[in-house]
Amino acid sequence: MSTPQVLNGYERAVQCTYGRIPIAFVRGRGARLWDSEGKEYLDFVSGGRAGTGLGHCHPRVVEAIRRQAEALLFVSNDFHHPWGARLGELLAQRSGGRKAFFCNSGTEASETAIKLARKWGSQNGGRYEIVTAQGSFHGRTLGALSATGQTKFHQGFQPLLEGFHYCRWNDPDSLASAVNARTCAIYLEPVQGESGTYPASPAFMQAAARLARERGCLLMVDEVQTGFGRTGRYWAYEHYSVEPHVIATAKALGGGLPIGACLALPEYCALVPGDHGCTFGGNPLCAAAAVAALEALDAENLVERAATLGERMLGTMRDWARQYPSITEVRGLGLMQAIEFHGDQAATVGRGALERGLITHTVGAGILRLLPPLCLTDEEADRGLAILAREISTVGGRG
Ligand SMILES: *Cc1c(COP(=O)(O)O)cnc(C)c1O
Repeated sequence: MSTPQVLNGYERAVQCTYGRIPIAFVRGRGARLWDSEGKEYLDFVSGGRAGTGLGHCHPRVVEAIRRQAEALLFVSNDFHHPWGARLGELLAQRSGGRKAFFCNSGTEASETAIKLARKWGSQNGGRYEIVTAQGSFHGRTLGALSATGQTKFHQGFQPLLEGFHYCRWNDPDSLASAVNARTCAIYLEPVQGESGTYPASPAFMQAAARLARERGCLLMVDEVQTGFGRTGRYWAYEHYSVEPHVIATAKALGGGLPIGACLALPEYCALVPGDHGCTFGGNPLCAAAAVAALEALDAENLVERAATLGERMLGTMRDWARQYPSITEVRGLGLMQAIEFHGDQAATVGRGALERGLITHTVGAGILRLLPPLCLTDEEADRGLAILAREISTVGGRG
């Protein structure tokens, strides 16, 4: 199918719920993608929104899928299978013994965390309120949407689920005043992703942990986008010396396949048989892919790689901020980075870069986000940065 045929198919038969870019991809390998016209792209968004951490079609993941596809694709969670046990054990090892509930997506991982907190709260003083942050993103189902602290996503879907309070981001006082005796959980992204890559301040995350301890509620982190080395630590919360009770995660977990997990310390696993379920959650195929992805992450030391490469890229971008008045801020952790521009210059830079074969993500017209895969080579990083530098220099004189 040619690109126009693909675009026409979408136009005629697929609901228009995304602001899609008019490119049709047909192949991917590592940090590179090819479209249906044969044009090669350097992928600085990990398939988009950090959906894969290892890059496209990691050989270990592909081999695991191939093997598993011939053995067993699906049995429901009424039964057991070896890959669920193996994945659970791997995640427990890497998360201080937390136990997993498997689902298919980040939204479902958030939804599970919300239900776990409600159930736990119902048994601990009738607590049901959840505090999240303004600017947060936790998913699109009505529960996860209610947790999301951005009114633009709420428009047209009210009434939302009751009991959510949105504190100001990185404001410990605002957080403290949102928590009360009815609060069952504080739920935060260690680095806000979708709203434009805003790392939490250490004071804010530590205030969240202290408040949870003092007021007797749960601390839950949304590591859907930040998990599995993205920020240069296995989990982003590790940057903050806090120990959440619950971790919601997904995206990079499956190595490119859809799987999510809600991980909870054993004494807080409040959901019991009958409370919650997910037909395809942790199915043999996706669990086998996730096991391979987590093994590859360790075998190739990609978490440390994200830390060192991320620091190097951020260093280069901070030099640009000193050089070009069009840049107002460079921020990020590891391979989760953003450049903020005056006015609408991020959109111009993003469009120019795409033209030259570099894929980035823009938020509004002013923020350019980079989420490159952890397999990115030094040569690919330099090539992508050179494309960006060139685009920025053309708008750079304008402050
Ligand atoms: C992407 C994202 C979600 C939603 O994940 P889906 O897999 O798209 O449902 C939730 N929380 C955060 C922080 C995310 O970045």
